[in-house]
Amino acid sequence: MSQIESIQKVSIVIPVYNEQESLPILLARTSAACQLLTQPYEIILVDDGSTDDSAAILTRAADAADSAIIAVILNRNYGQHAAIMAGFNQVSGDLVITLDADLQNPPEEIPRLVKVAEEGYDVVGTIRENRQDSWFRKTGSRLVNMMIQHATGKSMGDYGCMLRAYRRHIVEAMLSCHERSTFIPILANTFARRTKEITVRHAERSFGDSKYSLMKLINLMYDLVTCLTTTPLRLLSALGSMIAVSGFMLAFLLVILRLIFGSVWAGGGVFTLFAILFMFIGAQFIGMGLLGEYIGRIYHDVRARPRYFIEKIVRAKSAETIHKKEQPCQEKEQ
Ligand code: UDP
Ligand code: MG
Repeated sequence: MSQIESIQKVSIVIPVYNEQESLPILLARTSAACQLLTQPYEIILVDDGSTDDSAAILTRAADAADSAIIAVILNRNYGQHAAIMAGFNQVSGDLVITLDADLQNPPEEIPRLVKVAEEGYDVVGTIRENRQDSWFRKTGSRLVNMMIQHATGKSMGDYGCMLRAYRRHIVEAMLSCHERSTFIPILANTFARRTKEITVRHAERSFGDSKYSLMKLINLMYDLVTCLTTTPLRLLSALGSMIAVSGFMLAFLLVILRLIFGSVWAGGGVFTLFAILFMFIGAQFIGMGLLGEYIGRIYHDVRARPRYFIEKIVRAKSAETIHKKEQPCQEKEQ
């Protein structure tokens, strides 16, 4: 059944936050790269409440006659992932490519991404070859990537690079998730069947600084973890059980040693108190873990993600009209 669907139109989605210096170059390079495509294309730029000239530049570019550029102007700053979602809401292509506005992701890679997606992949991710970021950011990403790989079982080497291609049905699945805080590459992978990663070049930021402060990065980390799993809540019960069991074993050991060596050895009962304390602490953690289980379930329900997402439905064409003489329930057609 998995006949590869060809790509009719490509949509590019770019979030922009105070990037006035890089925008002219970005627009020129992205348009030039898209002109190499065989498909028609659109470039959707989402201004995420910039305080500089970015919105004006985008509006002017989109206003020009025959422009393939669509400017989506948000009323204030909502964050990179929310801005991309706003762009997703406007796409009309059947392959959607996201990239950063700061020229760290070279737009020249777009045709390659399209080519790989055409081989039948739902999501095409990228690995940044010789990544041009600080040591702190690199180590952070490496740890996060390892964690995600453990949690999702999907082996993607680099979740931080936003130069990615998604098939339209994946984008629609993401749009039907109503949670406020999302991490798009992970969300996409929860819906993807076939994924592939290619290496792309990565440039240093030419203008301005990263728009992520330490606080924003920490926030993004939490978005990422909560978008992915409620396992940390479950860990509370596991930790509690461990503490309670070791407290219990310690108490048992202390009673035996006390009987052997007498009350002076046991510090007049102080050790026993510790053992009892451990047991209670453990019990508290187990209680918190139990609360966590409920909260995890409430969280799942509040997010109201669709239970399943249908990629497509294949039915036999009406038996009388087309396959009159053939067997009636022949399943084909794309
Ligand atoms: N961005 C955004 N809203 C924000 C922060 C960033 O739209 O609140 C955009 C930004 O303009 C850029 C992309 O998201 O196009 C990635 O941001 P940045 O380059 O600062 O992140 P880094 O490369 O440091 O991870
Ligand atoms: Mg950047």
